[in-house]
This record gives sequence, structure tokens and C-alpha cells, in this order.
Amino acid sequence: MRKMATIRRINAVRAIPDADAIECAVVGAWTCVVKKGEYAAGDLAVYCEIDSWIPHELAPFLSRGNFPRVYNEVKGERLRTVKLRGQLSRGLLLPFSTMKPFFVDILFTEGVDVSDLLGIAKYEAPVPAQLSGEVRGVFPGWIQKTDQERVQNLTEQFDYWLAEAHAWEVTEKLDGSSMTVYLRDAEFGVCSRNLELKSSDTNSLWKVAVRNSLELKLRRAGGNLALQGELIGEGIQGNSYKLTGQEFFVFDIYDIDTSKYLLPSERLAFCKQHDIKHVPVIAYTTRLWETLGINTIDAILRFAEGKSVWGVSCEREGLVFKSATAQCSFKAISNKFLLKSD
Ligand code: AMP
Ligand code: MN
Repeated sequence: MRKMATIRRINAVRAIPDADAIECAVVGAWTCVVKKGEYAAGDLAVYCEIDSWIPHELAPFLSRGNFPRVYNEVKGERLRTVKLRGQLSRGLLLPFSTMKPFFVDILFTEGVDVSDLLGIAKYEAPVPAQLSGEVRGVFPGWIQKTDQERVQNLTEQFDYWLAEAHAWEVTEKLDGSSMTVYLRDAEFGVCSRNLELKSSDTNSLWKVAVRNSLELKLRRAGGNLALQGELIGEGIQGNSYKLTGQEFFVFDIYDIDTSKYLLPSERLAFCKQHDIKHVPVIAYTTRLWETLGINTIDAILRFAEGKSVWGVSCEREGLVFKSATAQCSFKAISNKFLLKSD
């Protein structure tokens, strides 16, 4: 589960040129615009990530004088990336005093997840009917759910990766719907991000799985494996790729018996051998930082900006970096994409 709201220490406070009422506070690799004078470097504060659903009482100003929206019966607003006076603001800082009602019972230190205490949830776009289908059960516990940590949250690990010769696969992050198909003890199944779906000829995930003979291909391969990928196309997330129909692109293969992902090279070989579509590979390199000149998180974020492989009119959502040798990965979302989709 992503931590939407955590206690964090403010690393620095910086002025914004030509702005007298606002300034920037830096938390890890995140920069948020705040009211001038409200925070100082070294302060503890509550940091909320973008896509948090913030209850109205916590930050009424997010509704900009309008009635708040409603999500899962909670009045509030979804946190989006905004640009204020030319400064990107990503996320929301709330003063440490927000936690006052809970001070008696809990000791708040850096890193503590306070999402539940504050009623902050992750905003998830409603799922279109053709993608939802009839539910067979929850997502199987013996497969890892698809998720990627944002590079901005990995400042410590990043320094370590910089120091060693680490090889990375870089793929385009596709903006669609997460889909998993598996074969386990001869049983085949299809799942959305959080649910396992009953076999159906109207559900998009099942239709694509059948059209691509994924069951047959997994049976031929043998073993207990899950193919995880993104379903993109018509009716999904606005289809900025302008595809006709829908298609499934694998980005991970999970070995159910060992509870490990295949390495990128093994995954690519598998997809090639079984004629399964794979997400676009943008780079595959040892010493990424040297070859691509990337040595800061900012540089990674700039590198994440660019056109999708599907055409010049479409900004890509971002990139996903996966270690070529270890079980670690992260996402870098394009700021250009975030501003466009707001
Ligand atoms: P988010 O969409 O921000 O929740 O980021 C995580 C999701 O990105 C994963 O759950 C996948 O469904 C999706 N995704 C899209 N493209 C890729 C990719 N190339 N590698 C890994 N995950 C991806
Ligand atoms: Mn997504």
C-alpha cells in the first residue's frame, strides 16, 4: 500500500522569484509551494502525496471557494500537480500541529504513516464497466500486486545506486489499466489491479487474454507464472495513444513458486519466445548514470519527459526503471504529462 500521508522533515525552504506570499518547501525530492513563513528547514510536517484524497476540513482552500467534491462519501479534493508562479508544486504540506488531537496516544516520528488517522485515502479513478466485470475474488495473495514507488521517495537508495555500477532496464510507463493473468497448478486466471475476475466474453481483460491465447502460451511454457502488464486502448484512461481496440503489454513476469520476478532479460526472452507484446523498452544499460548523464533525481524526472512511442501528439506518462540484476524498481512520472492531464 502506498503511504499517502507521512510525517516528514523539511529539508529546505526556498524563495520563489517575484512571489511575496508563497515560497517552496523541499521534502526529500518533492517540492511543495507553501504560505511564506509557515515552515522552516528542519521542521516536522505532514506530507501528502499527489493523488491523495484530502478531506475538506484539513485543507478547505483546495476547493478554491467552490463546494468540495465527494469521493467514497468523503467531501474533499484530489491532490494534483499544480504550477504556481512558475513553480511546480507536488503534494501538500500540513503543519505538524494537524496531529495535535492524537498527541496523547502516539509518538510521531519521521516516516510514520498518518493516512488513516487523518482520513486520507488514495484517489482511484472509477473503473469503466467493461473493465470491471464479475468478481471471482480478491487479488490472489501469492502474486505480488503491480505497483511502483516514485523515484522522489527513494533519495537514499538513489545515492547508493549512483555509487555502484548498477544496470537498468528503462521502459515506457503506459497509462492504462493494470492486468495480471496467471497459471498456477494448471488453473488459469485473469485479474485486474485489485480483483480476480470471472471468465466472461464481455469483460475487456478476459477478451484480450483469450484473443492473445495467453492461457495456451502459459501452458506451453509450463511452471506457475503470472504475466503482469498494462491494458491500454479504447475506453481506457482517455486513450491518449489513439489505439483502435485494446491491447495488453507485459511489464513483469512473476514466478509464483519462488515469489520473485524474472529479471528483465529473462522476461524479454520469454515474451519473444512466446510472441507476447511487451511494453516499449527505452534503454537497457549498465551505468545508466554515466551513459545517459543522469546523476540526480531531477535529471531522471527530466529524462522521463518525452513523447510516447505511439506518436508525436502524445506525451508519455513517464518511465519505469527496473534493475537488471536485483528485485528493485521505481517509476518516474513526467511533469509535462502531469500538467497536461490536470
Ligand atoms: P501508477 O499508475 O502511478 O499507480 O503506477 C504503477 C502502475 O504503473 C503499475 O501498477 C502498472 O499497472 C503501471 N505500469 C504501466 N507501465 C508500466 C511499466 N512499463 N512497468 C511497470 N509498471 C507499469
Ligand atoms: Mn497507472
